[in-house]
Amino acid sequence: MGTEVIDLRSDTVTKPTAAMREAMARAEVGDDVLGDEPTVRALQEKASDLLGKGAAVYVPSGTMANLCAIRSQTSHGDEIIAHNESHFYFYETGAFAAVAGCSVRFVSGLRGLFRADDLDPLVRPPQIHFPQSRLVVIENTHNRGGGSIWPVEQVAAVAQRAHSLGLRVHMDGARLMNACIALGVEPTAYTRHVDTVSMCFSKGLGAPVGSVVAGDRETIERVHRFRKMFGGTMRQSGIIAAGAIYALDHHVKRLAEDHANAKRFAARIARVPGISLNAAEVETNMVFFDVDAQWGTGRQFARRLEREGVRMFDTGPQRLRAVFHLDVSAAQTDRAAEIIAQVMLSSAVA
Ligand SMILES: *Cc1c(COP(=O)(O)O)cnc(C)c1O
Repeated sequence: MGTEVIDLRSDTVTKPTAAMREAMARAEVGDDVLGDEPTVRALQEKASDLLGKGAAVYVPSGTMANLCAIRSQTSHGDEIIAHNESHFYFYETGAFAAVAGCSVRFVSGLRGLFRADDLDPLVRPPQIHFPQSRLVVIENTHNRGGGSIWPVEQVAAVAQRAHSLGLRVHMDGARLMNACIALGVEPTAYTRHVDTVSMCFSKGLGAPVGSVVAGDRETIERVHRFRKMFGGTMRQSGIIAAGAIYALDHHVKRLAEDHANAKRFAARIARVPGISLNAAEVETNMVFFDVDAQWGTGRQFARRLEREGVRMFDTGPQRLRAVFHLDVSAAQTDRAAEIIAQVMLSSAVA
């Protein structure tokens, strides 16, 4: 066995390829705060076309993308309706509350999804007692839901109902392209139903930095202003935007390889005694599985894997997550599955 590490912690660990670095090195730059960054402008135009929206703003992170989208479509004291396992709620330092001043009313549902009918009882009546329901957030693919894909019709139905109830709709599309590649649909199939959409370049697409928020011009002007307020303006950011452009040009179709690897991996480890998962639920590049308690906790199992050169995160007491990406080959996928089988076997004996 070599010393090679197979890093399945996240698709954020991807490093820019040589060709991407070259495109970044060649990027024309300007001062984006003064409005003349040619590469950032090109990226924003490309993203707004791809997402079928009037405008888009490049932001440093997915967290800032969600925060800008939330802040620009709500006022302090408003309420957001979202799934209780949403990334923006779970993993973004409570920014929706701390910075945007919003509360969240939870909608539950299997694998991060919910239905139009779920919204009706959650929308607050217009009485003095209640916060104002203002925004629905849909996460696609849904991270803690297992990398699950929202059916297009379900997004359409939820968004339509939200709009009829007077709410705006934001799609946290950090991994929107994974959903689109898996289903074989254009992003606009989804995005035409929502008011704003964010997307990460620094996940499976393999760029080093950045996300985008797209929407109508008026909303995106507000997003732009809030990006400035939150300290997110960047000057010669064409250097990193060039990585994102390269990612859109070269790394979208290949997401199918990550999905294939995730499915292979899931099918393989589903047969290992002591591991439970439903391989049929693996739709994109993420595999969540549980280790039986007699083998220790998820964290202990992750530590054992680490010693064997496979890195992944525990996401619950018995639960682990493996994410497949640009820097994990099919051969490494098989090796990681093999190592898991071996670790289970050896720890069962111990
Ligand atoms: C990663 C992620 C984000 C946030 O992205 P950062 O760039 O890490 O801030 C937002 N939403 C989802 C679903 C994510 O997986």
